[in-house]
Amino acid sequence: MIASRDVPGPLPSSGPSDARAPGPGFDYLIVGAGFAGSVLAERLASQLGQRVLVVEKRPHIGGNAYDCYDDAGILIHPYGPHIFHTNSADVFEYLSQFTAWRPYQHRVLASVDGQLVPMPINLDTVNRLYGLNLTAHELSAYFESVAEQKEQIKTSEDVVVCKVGRDLYNKFFRGYTRKQWGLDPSELDASVTARVPTRTNRDDRYFTDTFQAMPLHGYTRMFEKMLRHPNIKVMLNTDYREVMQWVPWRHMVYTGPIDAFFDHRHGKLPYRSLRFERVTLPQERFQPVGTVNFPNDYAYTRVSEFKHLTGQAHAHTSVVYEYPCGEGDPYYPVPRPENAELYRRYEAETEGLQHVSFVGRLATYKYYNMDQVVAQALTTFKKLRARHEAGVREDGARG
Ligand SMILES: Cc1cc2nc3c(=O)[nH]c(=O)nc-3n(C[C@H](O)[C@H](O)[C@H](O)COP(=O)(O)OP(=O)(O)OC[C@H]3O[C@@H](n4cnc5c(N)ncnc54)[C@H](O)[C@@H]3O)c2cc1C
Repeated sequence: MIASRDVPGPLPSSGPSDARAPGPGFDYLIVGAGFAGSVLAERLASQLGQRVLVVEKRPHIGGNAYDCYDDAGILIHPYGPHIFHTNSADVFEYLSQFTAWRPYQHRVLASVDGQLVPMPINLDTVNRLYGLNLTAHELSAYFESVAEQKEQIKTSEDVVVCKVGRDLYNKFFRGYTRKQWGLDPSELDASVTARVPTRTNRDDRYFTDTFQAMPLHGYTRMFEKMLRHPNIKVMLNTDYREVMQWVPWRHMVYTGPIDAFFDHRHGKLPYRSLRFERVTLPQERFQPVGTVNFPNDYAYTRVSEFKHLTGQAHAHTSVVYEYPCGEGDPYYPVPRPENAELYRRYEAETEGLQHVSFVGRLATYKYYNMDQVVAQALTTFKKLRARHEAGVREDGARG
């Protein structure tokens, strides 16, 4: 933990800015080599000529988006399938400096009542499930006829039953949510299922964003290019606490869990985790689409087949089963009001810390997609650049 009055590690500054006087050490100590840390390292080094040390406690870069080849030579995502999609041209253009892309539109089927039907729920889902032949217009009327009326939409259950009725809620959402979160949808914020769309047309793409593509040679190659700059040094297998006292630095970018930064002084922020079970099979294809959801059967929630995502040609295939659990790596912040309140207490602690920026999904306790983290990091860079430029002007005036 770093107290606001007593920040160990940083070089003494000649003024209120982070403008660098030549000397030993680093301008920036970046904790974490995921999207948040890598984007900031790349920008600070390439745009401002800053000297950056990235410290990562895992044995690899890329954070949860890291990919690698398994024993069979199949490109896999060890921290769960990661599909890139964004509506932001800025984010897409920025990342395109470091990778070529393979167009990919993710599709998901749900195993319900012995059938594989499109998810999100669309016209084909309803027609196949109930043996109907509705048109798009008739489906809107159908949803209206089965939707429940509630005065207030408070929970995840309310969101869904008021949109598509109780039967579709029971078939697609209740069991899945209970497995995923270990809580009934009636105990979860409305925000959890508010993100799940339903459609009256036959569009069976999981995402509808403008840009949908996978890095052509994988995420790790993309991160390698981002971090390949003479001003960036990367230290793996190292917790930042092991080095922060010994390596001089001026400003820290922290992308780890915010409660850990403050030694959990207000209590632990709850996360939901996952256990991944990977299997390689001696066949080219295992399932018809990238992901199949199992809302009601089995302890796992979904099965993903990597070759759909990566487009890799291989005689064998690797799939991953996801088992939600309470213990393990922090993956999903649990969206309940008391947890948001606990986060706000930690957030208030950051306000006095001029030498530290908190960026990324763990440092802000929010479930962000990759593109949102990139956008957040680019915004943080603009603020740091403004401080840097103000400092350079001040130093020049003192001069
Ligand atoms: C199962 C799963 C599937 C997902 N699928 C998608 C998807 O399909 N599409 C999408 O857009 N997003 C997806 N995401 C979200 C995506 O993983 C995140 O948006 C992204 O990885 C966040 O980047 P980050 O840099 O904020 O955090 P991270 O990637 O978690 O990076 C933080 C890094 O900090 C390191 N660190 C933490 N503490 C310390 C310390 N004390 N010292 C040194 N290093 C430390 C960690 O080891 C980690 O490498 C998924 C997330 C999960 C959990």
